[in-house]
Amino acid sequence: MSVTSALPTDVLRQQDPELAEILLGELRRQSTSLQLIAAENFTSPAVLAALGSPLANKYAEGYPGARHHGGCELVDVAERLAVERAKALFGAAHANVQAHSGSSAVLAAYAALLRPGDTVLALGLHSGGHLTHGSPANFSGRWFDFVGYGVDAETGLIDHDQVRHLARNHRPKAIVCGSIAYPRHIDYAFFREVADEVGAYLIADAAHPIGLVAGGAAPNPVPYADVVCATTHKVLRGPRGGMILCGTPELAERIDRAVFPFTQGGAQMHTIAAKAVAFGEAAGPAFAAYVHRVVANARTLAALLEAEGFTVTTGGTDTHLITVDPAPLGVDGRSARGRLAAAGIVLDCCVLPHDDGRGLRLGTAAVTTQGMGEPEMARIAALMAGVLRGTVEPARAREEVRELTGDFPPYPA
Ligand SMILES: *Cc1c(COP(=O)(O)O)cnc(C)c1O
Repeated sequence: MSVTSALPTDVLRQQDPELAEILLGELRRQSTSLQLIAAENFTSPAVLAALGSPLANKYAEGYPGARHHGGCELVDVAERLAVERAKALFGAAHANVQAHSGSSAVLAAYAALLRPGDTVLALGLHSGGHLTHGSPANFSGRWFDFVGYGVDAETGLIDHDQVRHLARNHRPKAIVCGSIAYPRHIDYAFFREVADEVGAYLIADAAHPIGLVAGGAAPNPVPYADVVCATTHKVLRGPRGGMILCGTPELAERIDRAVFPFTQGGAQMHTIAAKAVAFGEAAGPAFAAYVHRVVANARTLAALLEAEGFTVTTGGTDTHLITVDPAPLGVDGRSARGRLAAAGIVLDCCVLPHDDGRGLRLGTAAVTTQGMGEPEMARIAALMAGVLRGTVEPARAREEVRELTGDFPPYPA
């Protein structure tokens, strides 16, 4: 298999064959198994090139035109380009592209708007909230007083009545909307209305859907939220990293100061350059077509999984993300994940709205980047059901995954 377009490893292979072998092995794993983890994707060779560039050498604390280091003339241009592209892509008045990750972006948003001990209303962790939405294992749960809203046990949809009720009762300083597992569009206008009623800030944590937003396949939270936190590496298909957007300029300075110097040090200029490349890619018609195919594939896959007997949360999806309960096939989420992994089908477990058990969470961003469509979704659904029912031998399933992925190399030679 040719891997050189994704990994120019000649130098590495000569100097450090031990590590080069690990990188090549990982590329082989990604290319020969099915990447259905909803938060993953394949970045372009151009994004990888920016990540592996000498911008990695540059120290650049501060912001363009106001750095604490010399020699920032060119990286300033790169960061301004990333900021301008992000603003244009999402219709934002302000963009901070320095957040090292989605979690760092949320930390900075809280730092900009809240004081320790403030009350925050967010989707509960058992309903699909992220660690940064009040987990006791995370800074958020330690430093703020989180109140969790949930999803309806039957429909799996966010319980709007409960959101309104809890907001009126607890008078939170901020309301967070966003999830790691919610397959439907979020009604940002509703959350804005509730936030206004109780005088709370609205923070949209759009880490998952922001790539769909870029291509016009999901509603844009920027006009509604005071602050939008996002990642650049999920459906958006950029480098691992975070981003913060504001619809108006009012909070711009507070957000920037909350990122640096409050919660971070020097910006990662190679990552920021790679973000600029990804924003450039996402602005084109090919990316819009891509995200619409991502959603079409997810809808197809959800319907096929339901036909195979899986219980599909909310009965389907609006996005790239699907959560299912495999219990009707006679297996719980955790063992299902293990059996599928052995067949080369890589996905995650997740919480389920209707019980304490675990379900499966999967997404179509990566396989769609590879060029897979409806016929491949049918093969994937049949394989998943076959593996879990035990009607397809594990070795046979692994071989079929190899054949399928062999026709769709993520980094063609
Ligand atoms: C992925 C995600 C994050 C965190 O992103 P990291 O880059 O892993 O820190 C935060 N919030 C939500 C809703 C997410 O889906």
